[in-house]
Amino acid sequence: MTKLDCNVKNCLHNSDNRCCKQAIIVDGSKAKDCCDTCCGSFDENKDGAFHNLFKTPESRLEVDCEAVNCVYNRDRHCEADHIGIAGDGASDASHTECATFQMR
Ligand code: SF4
Ligand code: SF4
Repeated sequence: MTKLDCNVKNCLHNSDNRCCKQAIIVDGSKAKDCCDTCCGSFDENKDGAFHNLFKTPESRLEVDCEAVNCVYNRDRHCEADHIGIAGDGASDASHTECATFQMR
């Protein structure tokens, strides 16, 4: 299980820079840099209308990941102890990235 910080504040699943999902998927099967990855589980919180009042952030979660060129990727699963998902102001999944990506 990976500890995750996420600054994508306008994602439905974000609360206090953390993620409330139990598992996420990171995309980027051909990624050679952080910017080629994205959080495939992003959902836009349009107009900030929905507030995540009922869910509590997960301190550790399962991260499935398509970015097989990353040193932390083992069989499409993230083995890093701690990752950061970035993309403040994102309105689409493609505006997000795994900032911890490191090319093999
Ligand atoms: S962008 Fe991804 S990691 Fe961040 S809160 Fe949303 S689903 Fe969770
Ligand atoms: S650190 Fe690497 S393996 Fe883990 S989620 Fe980010 S890109 Fe995928």
